[in-house]
Amino acid sequence: MKTLSTDVLIAGAGPVGLLLALWLTRNGVRVVVVDCAASPGTHSYALGLHPETVTLLKECGLGPTLESHAPAHSEMLVYAEEEPVTRLPLAGKQEPLRVFGQHQLESVLETKLRSEGVEVLWCHALTDFCETPDGIEGIVDEREERLVGYASAHLDWFARRSLKINARFLVGADGHRSLTRRRLGLTFREIGKAEIFAVFEFVCRDEDTIPVLPTLVFHPKSISALWPTAQGNYRWAFEVDARFTRNVRREKDRYLAQWSNDAAFPAVEEGLLRDFIAKRAPWFTPKPKNILWRSVVRFERRIASEIGKGRVALVGDSAHLGGPLGMHSVNLGMQEARSLGDALTRWIRDDEASDILAYRENTLNRWQALLANQSQAGSAVYPAAIQPHANRLAWTLPVPDDRLAAVLRELAS
Ligand SMILES: Cc1cc2nc3c(=O)[nH]c(=O)nc-3n(C[C@H](O)[C@H](O)[C@H](O)COP(=O)(O)OP(=O)(O)OC[C@H]3O[C@@H](n4cnc5c(N)ncnc54)[C@H](O)[C@@H]3O)c2cc1C
Repeated sequence: MKTLSTDVLIAGAGPVGLLLALWLTRNGVRVVVVDCAASPGTHSYALGLHPETVTLLKECGLGPTLESHAPAHSEMLVYAEEEPVTRLPLAGKQEPLRVFGQHQLESVLETKLRSEGVEVLWCHALTDFCETPDGIEGIVDEREERLVGYASAHLDWFARRSLKINARFLVGADGHRSLTRRRLGLTFREIGKAEIFAVFEFVCRDEDTIPVLPTLVFHPKSISALWPTAQGNYRWAFEVDARFTRNVRREKDRYLAQWSNDAAFPAVEEGLLRDFIAKRAPWFTPKPKNILWRSVVRFERRIASEIGKGRVALVGDSAHLGGPLGMHSVNLGMQEARSLGDALTRWIRDDEASDILAYRENTLNRWQALLANQSQAGSAVYPAAIQPHANRLAWTLPVPDDRLAAVLRELAS
């Protein structure tokens, strides 16, 4: 069996694993990054970069890319039913929030990593690992997709060969179904009710388009979010109820387009989009011409019982899951990747493990507070359509916890 040696083996090349790989590489630490998929994701998913994330990405040398391709926003418009009620500040001390599709982010992170001399090993799945006296031995299967089945042919994965990867440390950045977390025997505790959203990204006829700000629309039983995309399209996410759960998924697409018609996606047909807009946002006048992406996604609120053990750490969705509207999973995930990267660098250089322990403890505490909404501002009273959602505003607003109390006061005033 072929064997590779490295300092840190990273399982998962989503935005969080890629950022960690880049940070470690720039710190002079050797990494191997494996991902079981064939390529990065292809849709906008978490498309808002919090100001703190923009600062971080600029530190990684991505400033010029963001300046030219990621539109900046300093405010978010809030509607209570059909009435605009306020504009919330989104900017941090140094940067505005920027809109950048997750597929764009993954692509530029991978390109940057390659320019630093590291190639992601796509089609390589971590299948097992164990601790050794000097570190970790990871077993990774190189896989290929093959067309199988008669009559209803489909693509399936097959292992071609296995690799052994000896590393001093393993990081599971392997997403919500994390093999790393499961192999460590950690639980992934559900903290509260899942949220289900129907998502539509679409273009309109040129003459129909209007400039929009990131917008949240509160109704007593649902929240909807409108985002202008970096390409000048629109993305609506409408909260829906459990009747939609049969069509729910939480896997990232790897194909460039959805070859679809309404029959292929009955739960998110075009008529439904028009209906949602008419009922929840009648002020939104652009007429959808072409739906580029549609999906029904279930977002759970979960946190791992520990953020790793021994020579293994978790980061990003493998450690925690939050709602989609505040985009905390990716933004905090990438900021945690930086802390973990620095902690690992210190451990590898100076044999000092205290920062890794602090990383685990801080991450756990921060997410427990966020998901339990403990950082909410006192007993504030919000407009009637917003009040029923008071207990989930902490992870609904795209604002980090240190600015949240001020923004909540603004919403209540
Ligand atoms: C349809 C959809 C819509 C979404 N919309 C939003 C949204 O509006 N707002 C929001 O905040 N978030 C949204 N998300 C969630 C967001 O995409 C995730 O929070 C984000 O991708 C987490 O980043 P990550 O790097 O931690 O994990 P991921 O991006 O999930 O990356 C994990 C990677 O690990 C790889 N992997 C898994 N197992 C293994 C293994 N055993 N070996 C090797 N590699 C492995 C996977 O292939 C994947 O590439 C959405 C997700 C989906 C699927």
